[in-house]
Amino acid sequence: MAAVRNALIVGGGPAGLCAATVLCRRGIDVEIAEINPDLRPLGSGLSMMGPTLRALRMVDEEALERCIDEGFGHHALSFGTVEGQIVQRVELPPAAGPEYPGGCGTMRPVFWGMLAEIAEKAGARIRLSTTVSAIEHGADNVKVTLTDGSSAEYDLVVGADGLHSKVRDLAFPGVPQPFFTGQTVWRMTLPRPDEISDGIVMFYGPRNKVGCSPLSDDEMYIFLVENTPEITRPPQEEWPALVQAQLAEYSGVVAWVREQATDPARIDRRPLHAVLVPSPWYRGRVLLIGDAVHAATPQLAMGAGIAIEDAVVLGELLESHSDLDDALAAFMDRRWERCRLVVENSLQLGEWEKHPDDPEADPAGLMDASLAVLAGAF
Ligand SMILES: Cc1cc2nc3c(=O)[nH]c(=O)nc-3n(C[C@H](O)[C@H](O)[C@H](O)COP(=O)(O)OP(=O)(O)OC[C@H]3O[C@@H](n4cnc5c(N)ncnc54)[C@H](O)[C@@H]3O)c2cc1C
Repeated sequence: MAAVRNALIVGGGPAGLCAATVLCRRGIDVEIAEINPDLRPLGSGLSMMGPTLRALRMVDEEALERCIDEGFGHHALSFGTVEGQIVQRVELPPAAGPEYPGGCGTMRPVFWGMLAEIAEKAGARIRLSTTVSAIEHGADNVKVTLTDGSSAEYDLVVGADGLHSKVRDLAFPGVPQPFFTGQTVWRMTLPRPDEISDGIVMFYGPRNKVGCSPLSDDEMYIFLVENTPEITRPPQEEWPALVQAQLAEYSGVVAWVREQATDPARIDRRPLHAVLVPSPWYRGRVLLIGDAVHAATPQLAMGAGIAIEDAVVLGELLESHSDLDDALAAFMDRRWERCRLVVENSLQLGEWEKHPDDPEADPAGLMDASLAVLAGAF
């Protein structure tokens, strides 16, 4: 008999939506509890690397085609100076297959919306504005009470509820909590100049890093990584002036970006956190996946990728194992090393951004080496 006949997935981000799709397609009855009233996050961009595209293809091949059609497929990650001169270029491995690009930019609401559509089509039932209030481990199932007052028993509960996971709080007491990494990211979507067409370009200034990531024929996504020893919360009306001040030293395309940073409503600001919960990521019949258990800072642009890979691997192992404990132990064997690499190497890249005079600093080398490992089978 199958190890799991019904599952509750908490969280409707990439991890939860993709897990729902792969489980439903294996005949498992799946409900998703999502705390927000809808499934579309704020409108910033998302950069996907080859391994992310491959994992997406394994969830739903058509989804990958749609992403590339509607987004911007590209092949490289380049490194530039504060004057705007490109000095290094890393070719992105086409992990999804030679017919696909090594990277692709898309808009988050479009991507999340597409994943939700696929999960619902596969048969997942999505309960919005709902979360868990209690989890009780039974001998043969888990009893979950939701905030709408209902309760039900499940063979498996998957906590895919992101950085501040409630499932982690309820079922994994005492595990390490997310920590602030000393950086804050500012994001904007702007028209894409022709010079941002080869792929993602990151310019390194004396105080910060600025990236331009193509999203479509018309748009690109800007990320400015500021070193902020403490979490600060400046009023939103001051954001354009703060962004412009951070970009003061740049010439070239970033100088043009500086002039565009005028509307506070079109700027997003986010202090960066990370967490890597030690193995194992399951207790009884409750499993954590995605950012709930391995939230990386965005330096390798692989957070969504490893979240989607978790879903793919979970689906494969529930199909190949008739015992849930064996499947979850095998899940840890398959997932730990890749996720550790993404979290720790992303943190290292952030440390080098904070200490650019570090003689060991080699961001292009570490990104190239990390993406080469991640392009390997998982
Ligand atoms: C500034 C920034 C830029 C990034 N850029 C990239 C990038 O370019 N490429 C990339 O691959 N990754 C990037 N990431 C990382 C990426 O966004 C995450 O790794 C990815 O979204 C993780 O997916 P997830 O499904 O695990 O979690 P999330 O995307 O966080 O989804 C969790 C879901 O659970 C819901 N939820 C939360 N709490 C509860 C609750 N108590 N009950 C029910 N539901 C709940 C949330 O509303 C959400 O829908 C970036 C991260 C940051 C902070």
